[in-house]
Amino acid sequence: MSVKMEFLREEVQRLKDEGLYTNIRTLESPQGPWVDIGGKKYLNMCSNNYLGLCSEPRLCEKAIRYIELYGVGPGAVRTIAGTMSIHLELEEKLAAFKGTEASILLQSGFTANLAAIPALVNKNDLIFSDALNHASIIDGCRLSGARIIRYGHCDPRDLEAKLKEHQQHEGKKLVITDGVFSMDGDVAPLPELVEVAERYGVMVMVDDAHGEGVLGRGGRGIVDHFQLHGKVDVEVGTLSKAFGVVGGFISGSRDLIEYMRQKARPNLFSSALTVPDVGACIAAVEILGESDELVQKLWENGRYLKKELKGLGFDTGKSETPITPVIIGDEMTSKKFSARLFEESIFAGAIAFPTVPRGTARIRVMVSAAHSRKDLDFAVEKFALVGRELGIL
Ligand SMILES: *Cc1c(COP(=O)(O)O)cnc(C)c1O
Repeated sequence: MSVKMEFLREEVQRLKDEGLYTNIRTLESPQGPWVDIGGKKYLNMCSNNYLGLCSEPRLCEKAIRYIELYGVGPGAVRTIAGTMSIHLELEEKLAAFKGTEASILLQSGFTANLAAIPALVNKNDLIFSDALNHASIIDGCRLSGARIIRYGHCDPRDLEAKLKEHQQHEGKKLVITDGVFSMDGDVAPLPELVEVAERYGVMVMVDDAHGEGVLGRGGRGIVDHFQLHGKVDVEVGTLSKAFGVVGGFISGSRDLIEYMRQKARPNLFSSALTVPDVGACIAAVEILGESDELVQKLWENGRYLKKELKGLGFDTGKSETPITPVIIGDEMTSKKFSARLFEESIFAGAIAFPTVPRGTARIRVMVSAAHSRKDLDFAVEKFALVGRELGIL
């Protein structure tokens, strides 16, 4: 390896030495409650497939049907020739589901943040960002060039103090928060944040990636959960978690979406979502619109697992959602825990710095509506076994 590229190996070695190296597993089966890895079956406890829709036949059938009707690729960015009727169909269905006037699709949730934030604010403006916001929000904020002011995690009083401090600033101001914080499963105090932002006349944006399909009536998300319809200026969403496919979107007023169609750079310079993605997403929104059965099952599973793990003596943090962190602390122990679980047929990866703060490494357990009670009992039994073995219990 040439001298100028030596840093590549050095950095990867450093990650390994510090227990920060991610062992990336490969699935050989569809995403589901049980998955095949290396020719063996594992109970999957770490996907975002909240409702089990990733391999739901109705989604697959719609994807195939749409391929037959419309081909595969969009062939262009949305603003040139890549807008197909099916994109508009999904956008309308998403807006109706979220209870907003309009929506615009993007290629992913990550991209939706990179699209929305720089379109709204620039170097003359201020962003007030929750200290634990998702990496894609942070990157979107950086890309905008606006000055980023972090407020304490889920702390409307700190937000207010920061807004007050910068009251004289003449540019635009934007408050941004995750809806559900995915590493701890806690929920942003959106009513209080909105109330403070309203008083100071600043824009509010929420990224509802882990809220859609989970919070609110039938999984309509955090705005529905708090009955804040019309009070949140910008909602960002993803189609890759509970919806079970891939893609992102922005929802809000007709004016906001019209503006984004013209200004959001990933809409102008990156091609549209593919036909099967769109077909499958339409089926997912239809399923959610018809019944809240899957959402109910998800919550029931989440409550059960949390109760059982807590009962054993694990620290499951302060989650208010089906996300169930099992906080271990030390990075190396956390890795070992995950590796031992894997030997016991449980697939639940360790999450460490930089995804969570140093010293708070954890196994983040994700339940799904697709898990049976028997699956959950199997997981609890194995967590107990490994927890005792590693001296955590
Ligand atoms: C997962 C996640 C994203 C990224 O969504 P993708 O569709 O996977 O790109 C964005 N924001 C938050 C808060 C997330 O949890």
